[in-house]
Amino acid sequence: MNDFTGLLEDLDALLITQPANVRYLAGFPHAEDAWLWIDDGGPRLLASPLYENDLERFGLPYLLGRPRDWPRLLAERARGRVGFEKAHLSYEDFQRLREAFKGAELVPTEGRVEALRVKKRPEEVEKIRRAMAIARDAYREALSEVRPGVSEIQVAAALECAMRRRGAEGRAFPTIVASGENGAFPHAGAGEKPLREGELVTLDFGARYQGYHSDVTRTLALGEVSPELARVLRAVQAALSAALERVGPGQPIAAADRAARAVLEAEGLLRYYPHALGHGVGLEVHEAPRISHESEGYFEPGMVVTIEPGVYVPGLGGARVEELVLITEDGALILSSDL
Ligand code: ZN
Ligand code: ZN
Repeated sequence: MNDFTGLLEDLDALLITQPANVRYLAGFPHAEDAWLWIDDGGPRLLASPLYENDLERFGLPYLLGRPRDWPRLLAERARGRVGFEKAHLSYEDFQRLREAFKGAELVPTEGRVEALRVKKRPEEVEKIRRAMAIARDAYREALSEVRPGVSEIQVAAALECAMRRRGAEGRAFPTIVASGENGAFPHAGAGEKPLREGELVTLDFGARYQGYHSDVTRTLALGEVSPELARVLRAVQAALSAALERVGPGQPIAAADRAARAVLEAEGLLRYYPHALGHGVGLEVHEAPRISHESEGYFEPGMVVTIEPGVYVPGLGGARVEELVLITEDGALILSSDL
């Protein structure tokens, strides 16, 4: 097992409190109820006595106690410069650390573990592909429910139930089924509104498998839609194609979003595209890298990202299409291609 001391750099110890970071480094599946402490003595998990049996089998050194007592349990190990994750510590916990770590200097850190998580290891890619395969098969099954008269919630339930039956730990996030005018809200959720003939319906969903996620969106036309809606959907599909052409190793991330924006601008629809083009996917549904026209980095092999342009026109409706993409050594593999 890696001792992670490379993460310390200029620090004497580092406290990891972000659950996905704890899970990534330690592999502990109950990471939402644990902290990870790293110093030159190696890693150490902190958890409640509830997890004693899990930790006995788990094989990493650990300290047990109520969460409010964790700072006190660490006190004798806290020397010198002690890093903490500044975006993932409550004010209350920060105060407890400050009280317990007398004589140590608390140093805010940002994105150290997240930077490692950007490029996926082969075993992580496998879990994401499995999460994607579950979502794909569930989608194929649930498609028969996407018809006039069925409510958005019923469609969402069919999708989520089918994912569970295929081995998902759960849904990656609350499934979005947005029909008709609801399609104008990027995070619409799913309501009691029935689907109707002549509407676009946007389905945005994913599965969780061994802690890893999939995320994909399709927009379907129910029968014949108005020329306006058809134009919106075509523009989004064209923006997606233009963006995907710019996704590959060494390509600037910003150029992909700029390509999508150029297509929408030519259609006069750019003002209805209010979000970034995509995001990284892994132990979290939304993680680094951010895929936007303001991003500064480059696509690198091992990244798993979404490409998801959308257009949302108030009072009319909207469309979004999202692909899940693995950057490879020589190109990009669309993991969500066959649905
Ligand atoms: Zn999505
Ligand atoms: Zn997404």
